[in-house]
Amino acid sequence: MFSLIKNICTKIDQNCALCHSKASSELALCKNCYNDLPWLTSACHICALPLIPTNTPRICGQCLKSPPTYSSTQAVFLYRFPINAIIPKIKHHHGLHHTSWLASCLLNRLLKQPQAWPDAIIPVPIHSFRLISRGFNQSSLIARHLSQHLKIPLVLNHLKKIKRTKSQSTLSAQDRKTNLQNAFSYQGPSYNHIALVDDVVTTGTTVKEISDVLRLAGIQRIDIWVIARTPAPD
Ligand SMILES: [Zn+2]
Ligand SMILES: [Zn+2]
Repeated sequence: MFSLIKNICTKIDQNCALCHSKASSELALCKNCYNDLPWLTSACHICALPLIPTNTPRICGQCLKSPPTYSSTQAVFLYRFPINAIIPKIKHHHGLHHTSWLASCLLNRLLKQPQAWPDAIIPVPIHSFRLISRGFNQSSLIARHLSQHLKIPLVLNHLKKIKRTKSQSTLSAQDRKTNLQNAFSYQGPSYNHIALVDDVVTTGTTVKEISDVLRLAGIQRIDIWVIARTPAPD
């Protein structure tokens, strides 16, 4: 009982994770910060590329021309301030506390969409050397949060990053593709439907590459769930 009361009090007393004023929701954000976040409201149904708002679901030119092997992408935010400042912080250990409210925003977005739920949730892996040096994989933390709340199994260690690669952010689109060739392997059940979880989708090269690997392993349908999507390059 005491622990229950303590939990309730902690929730009420929570401060906003962004400005430290009093939080007004369970997300640990104040109303102003919540409203100022760069919510992604209109995007390509398949790759979540931001599009001009319309009333009907749409598919971008690139996905029409060359559809990826995954079925859809659900992203909560545009990769703009403050999201583009917070996510790199998480990777460098200064912002782990941001993971849970970011994952809750993604969870809320998923719950609002009528959808067929996957049989398993799989995070985008990092190479084992990086996992040892960093101590955690931020995509696994987000995936674990979603798995616990949605009661969908979290699948770790079947999808692996087997090649050490250069940071994608420094490379051109073609070099990103070459960099990731044969970088992933999947040895696990041939699920009918899975959700692949990542923090950010930039060009989509990583999720495309993994999706190809998963489809070759017999997985029929892959949905991508991410915190943020970068806008199209100018
Ligand atoms: Zn705030
Ligand atoms: Zn698209």
